[in-house]
Amino acid sequence: MSSRSLPSTSFAVTMVRDLRRMLFPPLLAAAFLAGLCQPGLAQHEALELGPEEAAPALPAGGATLFLNVRIFDGKNSALSALSSVLVRNNVIERISANPAATEASADVSVIDANGRVLMPGLIDAHWHMFMAAVSPAVLLTADPGYLNLLAARQAEATLMRGFTTIRDMGGPVFGLKRAIDEGVTVGPRIYPSGAMISQTSGHGDFRSRYEIPRALGGPLSQSELAGIAAIADSPDEVRLRAREQLRQGASQIKLMGGGGVSSPHNPIESTQFTEPELHAAVEAAENWGTYVAVHAYTPATIRQAIAAGVKCIEHGQLIDEATAQLLAGKGVWWSLQPLTYDADVFSRMSPVSQKKALAVFAGTENAYKLARKYKVKTAWGADILGDAGAASRQGQYLAMMARWYTPAEALKMATADNGELMALSGFINPYPGKLGVVEVGALADLLLVEGNPLDDLNLVANPDKNFVVIMKDGKIYKNTLSK
Ligand SMILES: [Zn+2]
Repeated sequence: MSSRSLPSTSFAVTMVRDLRRMLFPPLLAAAFLAGLCQPGLAQHEALELGPEEAAPALPAGGATLFLNVRIFDGKNSALSALSSVLVRNNVIERISANPAATEASADVSVIDANGRVLMPGLIDAHWHMFMAAVSPAVLLTADPGYLNLLAARQAEATLMRGFTTIRDMGGPVFGLKRAIDEGVTVGPRIYPSGAMISQTSGHGDFRSRYEIPRALGGPLSQSELAGIAAIADSPDEVRLRAREQLRQGASQIKLMGGGGVSSPHNPIESTQFTEPELHAAVEAAENWGTYVAVHAYTPATIRQAIAAGVKCIEHGQLIDEATAQLLAGKGVWWSLQPLTYDADVFSRMSPVSQKKALAVFAGTENAYKLARKYKVKTAWGADILGDAGAASRQGQYLAMMARWYTPAEALKMATADNGELMALSGFINPYPGKLGVVEVGALADLLLVEGNPLDDLNLVANPDKNFVVIMKDGKIYKNTLSK
């Protein structure tokens, strides 16, 4: 800064100009303007994206050989004969019918599974990493640094429950995802939605009832600042909010299309947004190669979402027969959760939420029956919010599926089928490659199980005991077998 005193405005202008020069030296700026932006962008990205420390990487050519495994491949309802599976780097390189196939190379670590079951890592299609284990009061009042540390701890716990991928259906997880991908902290692959987009008084409007009016272009409310929700009240605003999430790295967009249990200011029967509002988000997402998922319980909310071009319905417990048929006919995904009475969770709800929850619980049975009857593309998710105890029981919510499905069907849903849903993120898929299957060329997310989960789905409810090896992206995070 020069010794001359400058008016503050021109100082600010100088600062901005200097910063611009640092980011785009004149030549690069000219190239940028001419559309030859490669060098300029490379420099900009280096400034924005470079990790502070190099992530711990696998040794080049590092490999793991599983011997004597019986494989559940994510699709077949029967286990394979004894086989061996070779993982190199982060990909399944070879599956051999020879259970004791050996590799000459010294860089291969061998796990003799002794007949145990090898299966794909589990995928939860409706999870909230930032909010699963934190009470709403803490979520809306605590320091963001503290909340991120809690989320990181929950991410590690999620991976240790055998969930190697989650689709995050709302919450500020972009930083957490980056830290996991860079090896700074431990957790599953995250398909982030970012902030849940909601209309005023919608399921994602967490303001107090008297915090009105909301000024257009005015300051954001607390949950918007935190990146939990984004309130929007016109097609233009929805488009802006959707694009903001995509800009931050959302792999799909989540909108609140109707009333919800945990939000006190809207009836469960309410339809939220209009078709043009939903359609604005669909256009923004599809232009980015991806899709919109909508929170919806009732036939009216589901039908409006389908008409707007939404590709995935979240929940849907209050559906009717004709609407289930429509889902099947249109090939729209149904991301359905076994929401049933859980005394622990129920006791902590407000009376308003309890009443709404009972209506949803009562619909779960019918929803699964219709999903089966019409062969709707069904995804499984746990959708735990604000309850550490329930979050720790994530696997139990999968085991609960035995009420409606065979173990093989339920596990297929939580592996190969959910993997297919993840791929719907198209060209912005953060983890391109096959997920949820044990096949050559697929990403190496694997579990080695004590016992046969195709005989007893309950094994997934006790991951500490029954998942003896947990591998994500070719890297082993747990191995209790003696070497
Ligand atoms: Zn949810």
